[in-house]
Amino acid sequence: MAATHEVTNQPPPLAGYDVFAADAALVEAYDRYGSGDDRAELHRLGRLAGSAEAQRWACDADTHPPVLRTHDRYGHRTDEVEFHPAWHQLMGTAVEHGMHGRPWGDPKPGAHATRAARFLVWSQLESAHLCPISMTYAAVPALRSDPAIAAEWEPRLAAGPYDPGLRVPRTKTSSLAGMAMTEKQGGSDVRANTTRAEPAGSGWYRLTGHKWFCSAPMNDVFLMLAQAPDGLTCFVVPRILDDGTRNPFAIQRLKDKLGNRANASAEIELDATYGQRLGPEGRGVATIIDMVAATRLDCVLGSAALMRRAVAEATWHAAHRRAFGARLADSALMRNVLADMAVESEAATTLAMRLAASVDAADDPHEQALRRIALPLAKYWVCKRTPTVVAEALECLGGNGYIEDSDLPRLYREAPLNSIWEGAGNIQALDLLRVLAREPDAVAAWRVEVEAAKGQNRHFDDTLNDTLALLAETAASPESATGHSRLLAERMATLLQASLVVRFAPSAVADALCAGRLGSLAGTFGTLPSGVDTVAVLARATPAVESAERMDT
Ligand SMILES: Cc1cc2nc3c(=O)[nH]c(=O)nc-3n(C[C@H](O)[C@H](O)[C@H](O)COP(=O)(O)OP(=O)(O)OC[C@H]3O[C@@H](n4cnc5c(N)ncnc54)[C@H](O)[C@@H]3O)c2cc1C
Repeated sequence: MAATHEVTNQPPPLAGYDVFAADAALVEAYDRYGSGDDRAELHRLGRLAGSAEAQRWACDADTHPPVLRTHDRYGHRTDEVEFHPAWHQLMGTAVEHGMHGRPWGDPKPGAHATRAARFLVWSQLESAHLCPISMTYAAVPALRSDPAIAAEWEPRLAAGPYDPGLRVPRTKTSSLAGMAMTEKQGGSDVRANTTRAEPAGSGWYRLTGHKWFCSAPMNDVFLMLAQAPDGLTCFVVPRILDDGTRNPFAIQRLKDKLGNRANASAEIELDATYGQRLGPEGRGVATIIDMVAATRLDCVLGSAALMRRAVAEATWHAAHRRAFGARLADSALMRNVLADMAVESEAATTLAMRLAASVDAADDPHEQALRRIALPLAKYWVCKRTPTVVAEALECLGGNGYIEDSDLPRLYREAPLNSIWEGAGNIQALDLLRVLAREPDAVAAWRVEVEAAKGQNRHFDDTLNDTLALLAETAASPESATGHSRLLAERMATLLQASLVVRFAPSAVADALCAGRLGSLAGTFGTLPSGVDTVAVLARATPAVESAERMDT
């Protein structure tokens, strides 16, 4: 009771719940694709992710951003970044649960899908620290292009426990990896890189130049691109060399970012910095592309997680807040808004998990062809939808959603990022055109996957026919396709999502997705046509009421 009034009608915070158990779409996708024996661990992680204690870590890591220490007190360069203890809690948990590399060290069936499920659970709590975790996971496929280098680094990157700090990597319990490609004059166009690499003998080179974006600069090792005598080449650049000396790696400053504030993103200068060549000279892009592909998957996972968290908060709020004498969740209009967002979130989670499952099927040509085309589609569409969903969810909380305490502002600031890094939206759309022009197996794999849901929904069938016609037009005049590549990406991605949802989700969700995304041209949320069972969709999406802690406990 406040001095002047009683506080009423403020929902309890959504805390003290199992984030995994509350996410029906994720639980079902884990059952389809996961390893099956990690369920208890996922629930444990889900309870931690939904606990008030871990929510505090997320808030602290964000409000106490990392601090750059360029020099020690005597003027020697140190180039270190200090993090709040909450950051280390988050990182330690991510490593403990193997999000950085367990599938590489313990490659059992369903290992990558299981890791994706963990990632989807844990990044609902805080996204920024998953950047170094993702890059570590993603480095391994690229490192495998050189078995000797992979033999040295892979066990360290898959190991635990988390061991922060700059020391000789072989003396640490585990290592983390990063990536530095983007320079001032070009990020998408990495062939414009100007950093030079001079041969120094025994496969080592000395790199001189800069990188305009280098996230997580406290990681132990980086994959970098630089111009060697025979062209753009990939290098493995440790921060600490084997003899204990510091490899030149001057951190000029940390970026002052819109979001992702708990993570450090640096501008760095390389001055005769040692790097070990990975892959042949002149084949830098082809070598690092496997790392890029794996980080793109994590962009999809991270965006799906942001959407799910936003939908959980919005549905929870509406279940507890009353206006004009009724619960918000009982208003047909609010239900339409929430259900519309919920199906978007479910479609994103389902597609993200389907993609992760394809990583587990490395020897299956259909799965690899599907992955090739589904990755740019999902990276484009899921990441693009995220800021819109988060903004709408924020509005569902009214004024409270605009206030930092609600956590929605942090999600909102984070939301556009996955679409920018690892290839912005247009780059994904152009990649799709590349696949359409050069990889008929991938297009065929998309068709097989999508057509598996044919004949079950008229909106789906109509859109499929239209899209196949659009694809035929594109094939007939590829030169005119560039300007329409986003339209094509959007249609193909939505059909892929709808195909999965029609086959695997309850009919209320499938009907809502097909009616709202394929049968209607509406652009905002809350525009599902009549006939959609928004009550059922909402019941599935709302975290269980009894699982949350009351504000006064
Ligand atoms: C927080 C943060 C952290 C980052 N961390 C890292 C990191 O650790 N390592 C790293 O290497 N990079 C990192 N980046 C950089 C990021 O990957 C690049 O910003 C991104 O790839 C885009 O490159 P760019 O900024 O040079 O933009 P540009 O390449 O100039 O692109 C600008 C716009 O033009 C569009 N565009 C580009 N080419 C075409 C085309 N041919 N046709 C049509 N449209 C086109 C793009 O889609 C984009 O919208 C980070 C970025 C951010 C924001």
